[in-house]
Amino acid sequence: MIAYIGLGSNLGEREKFLKKAQQFMKEEGITILKCSKIRETLPYGYVNQPLFLNQVVEVETDLSPFELLERMQKIENMLGREREEHWGPRTIDLDILFYGDEIIESPLLIVPHKEIQNRLFVLEPMVELNANCIHPVFNVTMITLYEQLLEKLSKD
Ligand code: AMP
Repeated sequence: MIAYIGLGSNLGEREKFLKKAQQFMKEEGITILKCSKIRETLPYGYVNQPLFLNQVVEVETDLSPFELLERMQKIENMLGREREEHWGPRTIDLDILFYGDEIIESPLLIVPHKEIQNRLFVLEPMVELNANCIHPVFNVTMITLYEQLLEKLSKD
């Protein structure tokens, strides 16, 4: 299955954490097919914290969505993510953005990730990696979601 993982880091050696997370993914049998550019973004939630580095990777995996989530959490824990504040600083945050065109709504896992349409730091790299990828809930492409968000932000 093709999946997209969002990576974010805003603590310590941020670029190193992005690289290490990808290295751990490979060790878990996850093949990285494409990587977006790394972007520096303002923090989400608590604004008074360091800038994030964000990136999205396209992966191929035989893991189920829940196995993939479990591996992402294992990697977050190995890289010493601090979970004191929900939106506080973190060495690494790994979100499953898409898992093929599957729609999953369980207490542990929501796929597609529920914030994709609200985050430029996700939509920009998704457009870069696969502009015509269709969001299976909204039934529109990444480029459309990106343009809709730009429009919405220009009105705020
Ligand atoms: P956060 O602290 O915002 O990274 O949220 C982590 C929690 O979100 C975890 O306990 C996951 O079970 C849950 N979660 C729900 N959907 C997803 C997803 N698509 N990717 C990663 N975590 C998810």
